[in-house]
Amino acid sequence: STAAAGNKPCKPHARTRRVMVGTVPVGGGAPVAVQSMLNAPADDVEANLAQIEALAEAGCEIVRMAIPRRNCLDAFEAVCAASPLPVVADIHFDARIAIEAARRGAAKLRINPGNIGGLEATREVIAAARAAGIPIRIGVNAGSLDDALAARDDLTLPEKLAASAVEYVRFFEDECDFRDIVVSAKAHDVQTTIDTYRLLASALPQVPLHIGVTEAGTAFQGIIKSACGLGVLLEEGIGDTMRISLTDDPVVEVRACWTLLGSLDLRRRVPELISCPTCGRCQVNLIGLAREVEERLATVSKPVKVAVMGCVVNGPGEAADADIGVACGAGSGVVFSHGKIVRKVQEAEIVSALMEELENL
Ligand code: SF4
Repeated sequence: STAAAGNKPCKPHARTRRVMVGTVPVGGGAPVAVQSMLNAPADDVEANLAQIEALAEAGCEIVRMAIPRRNCLDAFEAVCAASPLPVVADIHFDARIAIEAARRGAAKLRINPGNIGGLEATREVIAAARAAGIPIRIGVNAGSLDDALAARDDLTLPEKLAASAVEYVRFFEDECDFRDIVVSAKAHDVQTTIDTYRLLASALPQVPLHIGVTEAGTAFQGIIKSACGLGVLLEEGIGDTMRISLTDDPVVEVRACWTLLGSLDLRRRVPELISCPTCGRCQVNLIGLAREVEERLATVSKPVKVAVMGCVVNGPGEAADADIGVACGAGSGVVFSHGKIVRKVQEAEIVSALMEELENL
């Protein structure tokens, strides 16, 4: 189930307005919603639905799909109709695609008013979203700032990004009387991201924010950059929905989101692996064992703590708060739960014994 509760009392993001993306609440004190984006070909309904299935299994709550061409709208509509998750339509350059997507089942539209064809085209997209009863994410990007703003050398990049987003929000709210919005202003640089979202949170305290470091890179670097940027923001109560953008399988993005939310104790859904770095006392292949346990845990959706420790001397004591764990010796391991020994097993059975005990919890 994806129904993990927010463990911590709501942080200041409770001050934002609530927007509904399908059945998923965003903002207004709702738990930070986890999103990802499909990367199957936009006209392949089966491939996109299979990816949505895998993402839902991993705990994704909102999924975004690009509609690059008008002839992909039929596929988009079919995906929306069969998807268990709300599907956000991601559109650039062509307002008519956005308008059509709103009519064909999008749970939200993601546009950048800077490249959708001007404010008049944006006004038409807003009308379509209003008619469909769906929100719009105003997504500003460092790469597509309007020329006048980009040329100003009295402003830093975060100030330009925030100013651009604020300007669009004023247009949506004041000129179009449309408040069903979420805002993002992403950059690929961590410090720019943090500074921009801090400015946005203070300039637009009521608007739910979609946070992310864009184009963060492949898994290793991308997760570190995203954890730095989003970790700081979430800890400050900034961010109502998040994506960790990776050059990788979107399922990895979702796992990374949950691991980050769990690390901050904001939401827990997946197991936390506690494993020691090993030292000269270790007499088993602990790195291999820990990787195997990690792999087995990837399909578990229980917010438990699982410890894999390299020796009996320090193992159970150092991981006393683990729900289940193993402390390894020469050729064997002692399985423990909350610091108490449950059973002793041979090295070859360590992983299966651990998984069995986890099942029994
Ligand atoms: Fe070394 Fe044992 Fe600590 Fe692992 S648990 S780092 S093997 S002392």
